[in-house]
Amino acid sequence: MQISESVIVVTGGAQGLGRSMAEDFAAGGAKLALIDMNDEMLQEAAAECSKLGAAEVKTYNVNVTDEAAVESAFAEIDQHFGGLQVLINNAGILRDGMLIKCKDGEITHKMPLQQWQSVIDVNLTGTFLCGREASAVMAKRGIQGVIINISSVARAGNIGQTNYAATKAGVVAMTVTWARELGRFGIRCAAIAPGFIETPMTGQMKPEAVERALAMVPLRRWGQPAEIAHSARYIIENDFFSGRVIEIDGGVRL
Ligand code: NAD
Repeated sequence: MQISESVIVVTGGAQGLGRSMAEDFAAGGAKLALIDMNDEMLQEAAAECSKLGAAEVKTYNVNVTDEAAVESAFAEIDQHFGGLQVLINNAGILRDGMLIKCKDGEITHKMPLQQWQSVIDVNLTGTFLCGREASAVMAKRGIQGVIINISSVARAGNIGQTNYAATKAGVVAMTVTWARELGRFGIRCAAIAPGFIETPMTGQMKPEAVERALAMVPLRRWGQPAEIAHSARYIIENDFFSGRVIEIDGGVRL
């Protein structure tokens, strides 16, 4: 599939990886629908994408965990653009913490249910809702599109990331399931599992965590958002790529 003139929906498109992918597709002449909750950054991203050469850019200030809002955003996208070719299911959050802490035989901490649930809601339910709506639009219009879900190297399991790791493994399971279910409509689904990439999300990490993380990367550097965008472009353009995960992580092993 060509990037040029394709309608590409990017969730979490206001900053970080989503923004970088949107800018890459914009430079390739795509029509973009950017979904995010951060309206100020969303408008900034849209303006930049227009400057870079997007055929068209529309923004949707939507929380991907809100079923009704997601349904109506995709209905609007469908009506305005006449369908969509690509969904980048990228919106995601971190709420790291240990499962339990125990000192001198006393439990001093348990991960609160809300901390678990908030990450499940965005990273899993949001991905599910957007994937469901996008595939419904593609199937009913006979569009042989592609859904790219953003997983993480943390899907292998990582200390302090019970919630996040569970969602990112779940995203891979959804990817394989959708590739199998939607292949009959000619719809592809694939995932990218980034390692540590320099974005506002990783900017939240404590300096000691950054040092520990970098020590695990054979290349001894952060990845750049453009390196993830490059992989997304590869998946879009290769019509036989489906049901697989591309790991872009500098060789890190968790
Ligand atoms: P980021 O925090 O910089 O950007 C995430 C974007 O998603 C923000 O614009 C935010 O407003 C939006 N968002 C968050 N919750 C939302 C919601 N409920 N509804 C709509 N929009 C919402 O993060 P990033 O580093 O760009 O990460 C993007 C994706 O890549 C995430 O799924 C993340 O888990 C994954 N990832 C990132 C890294 C990394 O090192 N940065 C590594 C592996 C995976």
